[in-house]
Amino acid sequence: MKWNWKIARIAEIDVYIHLTFLLLVAWFGFHSWQQYGTLAGTLQGMAFIVALFTCVVLHEFGHALTARRYNIVTRSITLLPIGGVATMEKMPEDPLQEVKVALAGPAVNIVIAFILWLWLSANNVVVTEADLLNNGGPPLYRLMLINVVLAVFNLIPAFPMDGGRVLRAVLAMRMKHHEATDKAASIGQMFALWFGLLGLFYNPILLLIAVFLWFGAAAENQSEQIKVSLGKATAADAMLTEFHILAPEDSLTKAIQLTLAGSQKDFPVGTHQHLTGLLTQNDLLVALQEKGQHTAVSALHLQAIQTVDYNLPIEQLLTRIEANGNTTLAVRKGSNIVGIINLDNILELIKIQNALHKRRSM
Ligand SMILES: [Zn+2]
Repeated sequence: MKWNWKIARIAEIDVYIHLTFLLLVAWFGFHSWQQYGTLAGTLQGMAFIVALFTCVVLHEFGHALTARRYNIVTRSITLLPIGGVATMEKMPEDPLQEVKVALAGPAVNIVIAFILWLWLSANNVVVTEADLLNNGGPPLYRLMLINVVLAVFNLIPAFPMDGGRVLRAVLAMRMKHHEATDKAASIGQMFALWFGLLGLFYNPILLLIAVFLWFGAAAENQSEQIKVSLGKATAADAMLTEFHILAPEDSLTKAIQLTLAGSQKDFPVGTHQHLTGLLTQNDLLVALQEKGQHTAVSALHLQAIQTVDYNLPIEQLLTRIEANGNTTLAVRKGSNIVGIINLDNILELIKIQNALHKRRSM
């Protein structure tokens, strides 16, 4: 089941909606139908929620396009019933840049609110107290208010919400980046508890936001602490140095023997100086089923193998592995292949570093 549907590609960023978002639109339609009992009223209710979430998408584009100025790529923007999420490659390490990226979202909402206010004033739209109490005023007036609320709510210093990112950046100006993240994440989780409590009594949406906030803070903090514990580690520290390369003329029987005899799952094909492809365990299993074990490796259509330098920092290596669909990469020193590496090898290194780190801090 596909939960995210791509609805547009704007400024080279894919925009997705989560399927549950359509439920929200339908629910608003139903709610408006009950309230007005007319098709026009129902459509107006649905149009309002669509307009509201357009503002949310614009908020995310505020973040994404500001981040782009610092050469940070945003892969996608996804619209969930509780708000938008911009999936960026990373956040800027420079605190001042992070503040600008974080503030750009709420700033967009303020600008929208201001434009709506100008329009409402220019058209002499009068909102009486009775209107406000009755239905919150005309739709554009409500949209203006909601944009103000969105800006203010996102500025609450609850990491990883926008205000929390500003807080982290400010903290990072006076302490190490990972310590700042740790502090900001603890404060974020405190807010999550408060939101959760308020949510229980007043508003279930707050409860959902609390859950996202709690886990979001924990996840970002964890990945930051892992980065620190990996420190200056490079591909050479995590790579598998006892590995086998298959020659093109080898049969699949050899691949089976090597798989069963050791821990290597994916096999580079070629020589130590020149690799021509990668035989993954998955490809091996498919080939065994379709062609049998006496087939030569060269008879298969192999996927390309990427090589990285043995000095490449682990952090960049993780990005490369992820970009390559989590497959195995070859590690080169000069013109020689000296190792292979995949996500499992890096996770092993992280476990070991963490154990050593805990021992040091005991
Ligand atoms: Zn934001």
